Amino acid sequence: MDFSCATAKSFLIDFRASANSFLSQYEPLVLLLVPLLTLLVARVLQSSLHAVQEKGLKQTLIGFFMSSIKLVPGVKSYIDAEKQKVVDQMQSGGKSKRESWRTELPRVGLGAEVMENMKEEKRKDALWQGKCSGTVYIGGSESEGHFALINEACSMFAHTNPLHLDVFQSVARFEAEVVAMTAALLGNKEKASGGQVCGNMTSGGTESILLAMKSSRDYMRYKKGITKPEMIIPVSAHSAYDKASQYFNIKLWRVPVNKDYLADVKAIRRHINRNTILIVGSAPGFPHGIIDPIEELGELALSYGICLHVDLCLGGFVLPFARTLGYPIPPFDFCVPGVTSISVDVHKYGLAPKGTSVVLYRNHDIRKVNFKLNFFENVVWIYN
Ligand SMILES: *Cc1c(COP(=O)(O)O)cnc(C)c1O
Repeated sequence: MDFSCATAKSFLIDFRASANSFLSQYEPLVLLLVPLLTLLVARVLQSSLHAVQEKGLKQTLIGFFMSSIKLVPGVKSYIDAEKQKVVDQMQSGGKSKRESWRTELPRVGLGAEVMENMKEEKRKDALWQGKCSGTVYIGGSESEGHFALINEACSMFAHTNPLHLDVFQSVARFEAEVVAMTAALLGNKEKASGGQVCGNMTSGGTESILLAMKSSRDYMRYKKGITKPEMIIPVSAHSAYDKASQYFNIKLWRVPVNKDYLADVKAIRRHINRNTILIVGSAPGFPHGIIDPIEELGELALSYGICLHVDLCLGGFVLPFARTLGYPIPPFDFCVPGVTSISVDVHKYGLAPKGTSVVLYRNHDIRKVNFKLNFFENVVWIYN
């Protein structure tokens, strides 16, 4: 023991002497600057590598080129001036229009004039009936048919508050029925789905997607302990996922679609890591109306034990009927193993007014992490 201690000591003394004599040939300033510069270079390299990993080589090079070109004298001020011109143009357009807008409550009530004003303004809106794709999905005219029926039903329940289930039992029942009927349309009756589909109504496709993302995040945290969640979606997926990423702190990877504009399953697989909580497919997606390969995405999700959300906002009330009519529709709903949640818009081809959508979960396990109980005095709050 003593022997090895002494050897180590003499080794250290020798090492110190030879290191000092070697370094004495350099100026102290050089010895100080070299490690600092090395740190700087390492830092630049690390952030460039990070940028390439995040945005890809091409985007990083373009970004680098754009920021270098702005260093040329005059270029930045020219770009800023051009940007300001566009902003000014946009603002001047709206300004004259807004001059007649009311910004304070009138001193005296306007009486019947209010209704006249509203009719007048409504007349200036674009004629959308059947002419503006993606706006409102109700056929007919305001005074007849399905349109008038919806108006009557909505006005009957305009003054309700579904938060108070005990007061508005009718509304609670209708919500449960809409959810059950939608689940039945999307595979809940088939053995392959497990028959446990549950969900609730929301204010629109965006909210359905937001809730599904939050549930998936919480479920994956509970099941796999993932605390730095990431999700992978095709570039063709809806903008609601960007919102979910920001609201719920989920890192978002948008990966390119393949040459047929379908979700590229291989590209998605390449982005999966141990923080991945979810992947997404749309049936169909909003930009191209194309159905992503949901079965392949389901296999991928199952093999990694992660969630798969299917965006049926547009197709949920079309595809089941198209299939019944005999069109060759590939599997897209809870019958596909691996699908954990679905969003489907009642306000689109469900032909109800804007402000109605459904979010569905394969089973209660995924949804239950979303319910929180809060006890305050003798009041119990349940929210999700
Ligand atoms: C309409 C739509 C949504 C959600 O839009 P909302 O206007 O919030 O209802 C999401 N995904 C797809 C594919 C859609 O068509």
